[in-house]
Amino acid sequence: MVQIFSMFKLQNYINGTLQAPASNEYLDNFDPSTGKVYSLIPDSDERDVNQAVEAAKAAFPSWSVTPKEKRSEIILKIVDLINANYDKLAEAESRDNGKPLWLAKKVDIARAASNFHFFATGILHFASEAHMMEDRVINYTRRDPLGVVGCISPWNLPLYLFTWKIAPALAAGNCVVAKPSEVTPMTAYLLSELCVEAGLPMGVLNIVHGLGPKVGSSITEHDDICAISFTGGTATGAQIAKVAAPKFKKLSLELGGKNPNIIFDDCDFDKALNTTLASSFANQGQICLCGSRIFIQRGIYEKFRDAFVEKVSRRKVSYPTDPEAKLGAVVSKGHMEKVLSYIQLTKEEGGTILTGGNQVHLEGEHSEGYYIEPTIIEGLSYDCRTNQEEIFGPVVTITPFDTEEEVLMMANSTQYGLAATVWTENLTKAHRVANDIHMGIVWVNCWLVRDLRTPFGGVKNSGVGREGGFEALKFFTEPKNVCISL
Ligand code: NAD
Repeated sequence: MVQIFSMFKLQNYINGTLQAPASNEYLDNFDPSTGKVYSLIPDSDERDVNQAVEAAKAAFPSWSVTPKEKRSEIILKIVDLINANYDKLAEAESRDNGKPLWLAKKVDIARAASNFHFFATGILHFASEAHMMEDRVINYTRRDPLGVVGCISPWNLPLYLFTWKIAPALAAGNCVVAKPSEVTPMTAYLLSELCVEAGLPMGVLNIVHGLGPKVGSSITEHDDICAISFTGGTATGAQIAKVAAPKFKKLSLELGGKNPNIIFDDCDFDKALNTTLASSFANQGQICLCGSRIFIQRGIYEKFRDAFVEKVSRRKVSYPTDPEAKLGAVVSKGHMEKVLSYIQLTKEEGGTILTGGNQVHLEGEHSEGYYIEPTIIEGLSYDCRTNQEEIFGPVVTITPFDTEEEVLMMANSTQYGLAATVWTENLTKAHRVANDIHMGIVWVNCWLVRDLRTPFGGVKNSGVGREGGFEALKFFTEPKNVCISL
């Protein structure tokens, strides 16, 4: 007897129900650890976005005036459901993205729950300003939800970044049309199931799956969507800004980076070394905050280089469910080819590969997966393409420097300005470098330590606006000043 297995199909979440796309067409969803298709993604289009916007518009009058305590309560139910389905979500994230399962458990799903928890409770403490004038006049500022907002997210931290946008938008009383990356849609789909279970009112959150140029651009272009919160590549951000700016939409853009990691002679050597392992290769180097340009002061250059190379060459690259895996698969075949092409470029630019530099071929069912060795390159000029363009994979360069002035010049030389890490035991120097570096985020003697209340975002081509804490609640509300003469 022939058995026909049908591939699991994800569904859109529109007006409170899970449904097929208007086209009834689907895209392949690949498991990066095996290179095989394992589910199908709705190939949605403008019709689905229009339906989602209509549902969100219909829900807004009620959701926007729902007391914040009630909104908070509903969002906290989603937190409970994420925690109740923790392992399932972590397994889904790891399979969809290729990241080690332990990492999805430790970081991605934990943070998705915290994002909702943080903004569900943060909204209860969100207050606005009053400005008194001497001549018996008072001003007070209302902060009202915007209406229907669009949230578009990337593939590297799928549920983590998706919820980082949705949570403040919903808590502030907006209705949302959201699009996860088509490369990693699975946990956003599972979240929609949890929203149904949590009793989120119909139309308050709508999740439309599909391609950027179809679904993403329909969201950006839609006249009834008044704000866009986007995280992704700089070129996509520029495209979104081009469409949204003439329509005067509010925009928050979190874009690419090429982050410097500055290691001074007087650092705590072991701490700097061990943290640099993580800041270089966590999530296969696919975190916008990874430090891909490592500058090491001359006095410890050789010692640091040799210890770093030794440790990196022992990092195990393996399939995501291997508990020993330090690196899993990169997210897609296309991305693997892009990263490998940069490794080729570094050779053409005169770089020396100290360790790594190759695709990894695992055995058995993982033989077609997308694996790359963690790679360290030495001997490149600070202004070559390898040191200026975002690679977004397990590839870092190391460069010696002599003076603070020289390293600041090199660190500040790219089009990007997202995050920097500084290693020194000299407090005055730490403050001085933090002051003179052109980045939105500076970590001193640590990396990726996150307090969700702090402003998050970049300068230059790394973005516009800030997420996090009250910055996000301010973005998702419109201030209105009321001036009263007594
Ligand atoms: P991407 O720009 O290709 O895609 C991001 C999202 O935008 C996806 O959902 C995609 O479908 C959608 N999209 C694509 N074209 C669109 C269009 N024309 N209109 C509207 N939406 C469109 O980025 P990616 O490859 O998914 O993610 C990697 C990039 O994200 C890297 O550059 C990385 O640095 C950046 N990133 C930045 C941050 C940050 O906080 N600054 C965080 C994570 C990732």
